[in-house]
Amino acid sequence: MEIKYFEFLRYLIRFNRRVYLDHNATTPVSSHVQSKMEQVLKYHYGNPSSFYGSGRKSAELVEQAREHMSQVINADPSEVIFTACATESNNAVLKSVSAHFYPKKKKIVSTPIEHPSVLNTLAYLETQGVVIEFCPVDDKGRVLLDELEKLIDEDTFLVCCILANNETGVIQDIRAVTKIARQHGALVLTDCVQALGKIPIDVHSWDVDYASFSAHKLYGPKGIGALYVKQGSPFAPLLHGGHQEGGMRAGTESIHNIVGFGTACQKVGGLLAHAGQIRALKRQLIQRLKEIKPDCVINSPEEESDCLPNTLSVTFPGVDNAGLMGMLDYRGIAVSAGSACSTGEDTPSHVLKAIGLSDQAARETIRISLGHDTSTRDIRYTTQVVQDYIEGRISFVNMLAPAQLNESILFDEKTYILDVRPPDDRKRYKGLPNAHEVNPLHVENYLKQLPRDKDILVYCPGGGLSVMISYYLKAKGFKRITNLRGGLDGWRKRRSDLYEKYAGQNITVLEPDKVN
Ligand code: PLP
Repeated sequence: MEIKYFEFLRYLIRFNRRVYLDHNATTPVSSHVQSKMEQVLKYHYGNPSSFYGSGRKSAELVEQAREHMSQVINADPSEVIFTACATESNNAVLKSVSAHFYPKKKKIVSTPIEHPSVLNTLAYLETQGVVIEFCPVDDKGRVLLDELEKLIDEDTFLVCCILANNETGVIQDIRAVTKIARQHGALVLTDCVQALGKIPIDVHSWDVDYASFSAHKLYGPKGIGALYVKQGSPFAPLLHGGHQEGGMRAGTESIHNIVGFGTACQKVGGLLAHAGQIRALKRQLIQRLKEIKPDCVINSPEEESDCLPNTLSVTFPGVDNAGLMGMLDYRGIAVSAGSACSTGEDTPSHVLKAIGLSDQAARETIRISLGHDTSTRDIRYTTQVVQDYIEGRISFVNMLAPAQLNESILFDEKTYILDVRPPDDRKRYKGLPNAHEVNPLHVENYLKQLPRDKDILVYCPGGGLSVMISYYLKAKGFKRITNLRGGLDGWRKRRSDLYEKYAGQNITVLEPDKVN
């Protein structure tokens, strides 16, 4: 009895949970990284190019970070250049290598599942005359090496292949790619942004020429990237100016960001050691999703060696991803549809299309990317919300703009107005006409008398509490629920004419349901 009494409060508390499952978009900055960066911001503001003490200290910090960075990718520190982001790293390589070879050699071979920072740069280079060809991938996004071999010829100066894809997590056999490229004298760029901190990186043994990285995918800050350029491989700076970064990248070093990146790199060993646990959570997630929706399609490779431990791309046939993601967001869970860079565009993901999904299937797909703080509880909570949504136990409530609430809605026989305002607001302002007042903290005590055959319009002072109560009612099986966006405050302002005329008329105060 007591427990039931607090049901709605428990529901509210559950609403306040936050579960971040979009680590491929970006990661939170770890507290360790934060504190190192704060120290730099506070004490080490000297310009690394200045010759006096504080400048030399800053230069030393930059070199330490370069050391840390080079260690985790097995490179020599002299082969690492700090950039502003991986987008810059990819641009710098693609443009400078093209300038070096074109027009003597004309072709770049790449894959259709690259990040936009590569694809859009390739599209630009194409306008400059460079020939771009894409090697097909299989239904899990693995590059078809036989096809790659056919595409690379003596005119090919660069092969550009993403190591681990951000949307599905598919990992390429980069060693094999490099071997094929080398047979034709082509250089290799690999985008390692999603891989660092999730799988071991060894640029020397893979024999790649260029590799790009970004700190914000491994609990470091945004706005700092890195580029590996193999000793002796051609490279010219994208930015001209000062002599920073050995003359390879002009611009005063962002020391706090560089130190943040270096500090994040120091934790890579720990992240890799934790990868097994993340993979185990992903297995649980897949198992639950398959139980919830047996026809769901896992787009990420299920062979564990072929996929990042944290990444899952899954299609739920018949379930529009916008609605599902909206609901997940509403319940405090962050996932995404494709790459963060394409969010907001309605075009289906190029990666999903490249692995054979139809436009429709791509719109029924979400990406879940776990992080090293993700817990079993997070997975349980997320899958519960997915299940509730898919099984129709919760769905979106209608939203009514204050200006739209007119006499015909207010006085329609089918409208049932539910006032969930706190008592002090009721004292201050008259409510909507024909409203039924309930105790907003114990809505569960009125469920028996709320009509299931009417359109219930829920309102509170500002539209926040009422939206939660609306979802609660949806979860309780009430099908026709509308929330007054902006609440009574919004309506009083937008429709002061109606407020003056009708507010406070015919109010019913509901008594709690009788308990049998
Ligand atoms: N490459 C891949 C695979 C990515 O996932 C991203 C970021 O989403 C980038 C490149 C671009 O990185 P940045 O945000 O540092 O420009």
